[in-house]
Amino acid sequence: MAHSLSVLEAQAFPVLTVSQISSLRPFGATRTARAGEILIEMGDTIAGLFVVLRGTTSILDRANDDKVLRTSGPGEFNGELGLITGQRAFVACIVNEPTTLLFIQSSSVHEIIATIPTLSDILVTAFAARRQLLMRDVVDSLTIIGGENDGNVLHLLEFADRNRIPHRWLDPANPEDRQSIVTCEASEGDPFRVVIGKHRVMDHPTPQQIARAVGLELKISGDGVCDLIVVGAGPAGLAAAVYGASEGLSAVVVEDTAIGGQAGTSSRIENYVGFPTGISGNDLAFRAEIQALKFGARITVPRRATALENRQQNYAVHLDESDDVLLGRSVIIASGARYRGLDIAGKDTFSGVIYHAATELEARRCRGKEVVVVGGANSAGQAAMFLSEHARQVHLLCRGSDLKSKMSQYLVDRLEHAPNVEICLHTEVVKLYGKSALETVEVKNNVTGLSTNIPASSLFVMIGADPSTGWLKGSILLDSKGFVRTGESAAASLFQSNWAGVFAIGDVRSGSVKRVASAVGEGSVVIQAVHRYLASLRELPPTTEMNHS
Ligand SMILES: Cc1cc2nc3c(=O)[nH]c(=O)nc-3n(C[C@H](O)[C@H](O)[C@H](O)COP(=O)(O)OP(=O)(O)OC[C@H]3O[C@@H](n4cnc5c(N)ncnc54)[C@H](O)[C@@H]3O)c2cc1C
Repeated sequence: MAHSLSVLEAQAFPVLTVSQISSLRPFGATRTARAGEILIEMGDTIAGLFVVLRGTTSILDRANDDKVLRTSGPGEFNGELGLITGQRAFVACIVNEPTTLLFIQSSSVHEIIATIPTLSDILVTAFAARRQLLMRDVVDSLTIIGGENDGNVLHLLEFADRNRIPHRWLDPANPEDRQSIVTCEASEGDPFRVVIGKHRVMDHPTPQQIARAVGLELKISGDGVCDLIVVGAGPAGLAAAVYGASEGLSAVVVEDTAIGGQAGTSSRIENYVGFPTGISGNDLAFRAEIQALKFGARITVPRRATALENRQQNYAVHLDESDDVLLGRSVIIASGARYRGLDIAGKDTFSGVIYHAATELEARRCRGKEVVVVGGANSAGQAAMFLSEHARQVHLLCRGSDLKSKMSQYLVDRLEHAPNVEICLHTEVVKLYGKSALETVEVKNNVTGLSTNIPASSLFVMIGADPSTGWLKGSILLDSKGFVRTGESAAASLFQSNWAGVFAIGDVRSGSVKRVASAVGEGSVVIQAVHRYLASLRELPPTTEMNHS
């Protein structure tokens, strides 16, 4: 959703009409508030929506000397995306003068979103736009400190960026950043640490610890049995969540890394229907996430499914880092695929500048530099094209004899015409060199055997992916390459695995078309089979065991 600032601001801060406020009144209670009262505190769970009826309120950036980000008057409302995701507040909201408010608790906000489409549109659009503005303005609420060659730093930056956690990055090697590092009370020594707000310093935090600290992680276990557990929030899992939740299923989505999956790492998807000028994978994922939340799906990130267990009338999905277990009557496996790495000398030394995605985040680091992209399919082509807008020179290495066999013709044409893209066929990477940072990539021509050195500060490896099915070993039937086998029982759905009630969709499914549109299509169609399966359960006598042959 790349909108201009004025469009975003208009979407973020609408003024409700008298009749819209009247429709909201039955869901809340009118109350007065005195000047100085804090309605929302940074770091706290957001209790509900505050509609200003008389007086004014202000949004403060606590991490930035209480800078006033916005003042709201009659007809405007205070509340953010955290109201539907469960995330804690990144900013504070304070009353400026004696004010009258309509307060609507967060559970009732969910009810409004589910039952009144016109108000739902206004609220959801405002929440999404506010988060985008926060990503631009409230960068100090999470400060990531560390060097650009540190893989942990990069991993956390990617996590924050892809999960839309407002943040800033300070590099101790950058003289301009040093004063800010001192100001935000981070100690000397080991450079990798994170400061939350102004004072809370965390050394070497994992994404999961950060997620917990900002309230991104949902408490989902111990909630009883839901209708549907979706493992993976790529395009397939998100579509299943949207269609499942909108059709009345209680759905919980478990995502290991970031909402959007592989598609979320694409700078521009140009072949998805309805977006003639393309859409960034991250924006597409954000739209789908909001849509799924709007219909009542619950998403938890970063949580990894580690095993699937059949417990008679339901299934248990085991989660990482704890003994947490989620129970569901049905399960959709949408865990997709993970990029392959290159087994080359120097890969561990330079892991901080070896990327498997090319988004704005990576592009910022390549501005004006030379980079190498490895791969011969669409993802490598897209990355090379996108990086050519930022890097001085892009070297695209393909070990095959042409690009056409695996890459769409439109991309081949663009690459061939890009002045700063060099296409090197029959070329493989041998070794990475550099003193403190990557400086040179040694490559070999696999026909002539000749070696050459290419100057490069980053290496983008886009050489395909393997199915993310390690967590299913010993439970679900996989094909020889590790993809989930489906559709083998004549009567069952095309997406059903060898366990009734367990389905697989998207890239993880054996024989699937590896595209965003097909993953989304499968995510929508599979819900019909889930409904059929749940209906069949209701017909079973309570003591009957399911046949999971
Ligand atoms: C750089 C790039 C560009 C691309 N460009 C295009 C394009 O332009 N057009 C197009 O049609 N296709 C494109 N593709 C392909 C497309 O992105 C994929 O086909 C699509 O994302 C598959 O969706 P999916 O939901 O099945 O799986 P994925 O997108 O792989 O999502 C799976 C999700 O499951 C999560 N997960 C994995 N294991 C676990 C676990 N154990 N527990 C919890 N979560 C787990 C992962 O973190 C991931 O988020 C591109 C791919 C890449 C990498």
